[in-house]
Amino acid sequence: MTTLVLLDHDDDGTPRTAALELVTAARPLGAVHGVWVGDGLDAALATLADAGVETVHHVAADAWWPAVLAETLHTVRVSTGADLVLLASTAEGKEVAAGLAVLEGAAVVTDVERLERVDGTLRVTKSVLAGTWASTVEVTSPVAVVTLEPNAVRAEPAERPSSPQVVDLPVTASQVARAVTVVRTPRQATGRPDLATADVVVVAGRGVDGHLSPVEELADLLGGAVGATRVVADEGWLPREQQVGQTGVAVSPRLYIGAGVSGAVHHRGGMQSAGTVVAVNSDPDAPIFEFADYGVVGDLFEVLPALTAELRRLRELA
Ligand SMILES: Cc1cc2nc3c(=O)[nH]c(=O)nc-3n(C[C@H](O)[C@H](O)[C@H](O)COP(=O)(O)OP(=O)(O)OC[C@H]3O[C@@H](n4cnc5c(N)ncnc54)[C@H](O)[C@@H]3O)c2cc1C
Repeated sequence: MTTLVLLDHDDDGTPRTAALELVTAARPLGAVHGVWVGDGLDAALATLADAGVETVHHVAADAWWPAVLAETLHTVRVSTGADLVLLASTAEGKEVAAGLAVLEGAAVVTDVERLERVDGTLRVTKSVLAGTWASTVEVTSPVAVVTLEPNAVRAEPAERPSSPQVVDLPVTASQVARAVTVVRTPRQATGRPDLATADVVVVAGRGVDGHLSPVEELADLLGGAVGATRVVADEGWLPREQQVGQTGVAVSPRLYIGAGVSGAVHHRGGMQSAGTVVAVNSDPDAPIFEFADYGVVGDLFEVLPALTAELRRLRELA
């Protein structure tokens, strides 16, 4: 049983945490092969060895958009005979997964939180219906394409490091995959982590009334990302790219803090797989308290600064 993992990485060759989480999740299932697209592999080999990647298929890239990545993964999948391809559940990961599944005639399951093999059959679990149900899916097709929620698994080194074999693979994407050129303009760096994969997300809801500093200060202290409800994006208080929810970014942080967020079903749909949910809302009947792990009924303009000050004090003591 071989799992193929797309090793997403920064330009300097640092594997993304989400990629190392995929490797960690894949290890108990059998041999782990990685696909590295582009430069920077040499710098990453030690990390990939610690993670236990057995073989890295290195593809020189002059193009990297989803249709090309799907064809690239298809080529590597066929050459390795892998029965599972694992990608991160980001917007791009899911687009690549869909394209790859079409090329393979494979089953695709997105937003998965746990995967295991039971008597040789792949079984995956995901949250559905705004986090109210856990759905377990058995994949019966010969090849499975699965996207795993960021933070669903903590990236851990392997018990025994590997000595990854590097296989250079010439892959030429088809005319169809190259028919559209994707131009990416990097967003202005905020210094905060990427919203989709952040460990901590602090979300501003309508209750902030345009005043974001309590939310931003708390997020910065925790090294987290700042998210917005749709109302906050509609009001222009935060950019649309920061909207969390069914029609925004899906997040799965270990810690989600909602400040002045009611917890509407469309918002919940994008944060249902968060680990611990903390809600600060002045209305004790706000729906968010129905699914929050910790709730504070109070004015966010009092609660958030007090929380930030206390966390800062504890940090200074440590
Ligand atoms: C098709 C569709 C798709 C949608 N997609 C999304 C989506 O992707 N993401 C999303 O977020 N929404 C989405 N929505 C909108 C969603 O239904 C809600 O309207 C929205 O999430 C509500 O945002 P909110 O919690 O900021 O505002 P509200 O629902 O107005 O809640 C504000 C909360 O702030 C509290 N509050 C006010 N003042 C304070 C204070 N000083 N201190 C503490 N608490 C305070 C209030 O008690 C209230 O509970 C979608 C809607 C539709 C119809």
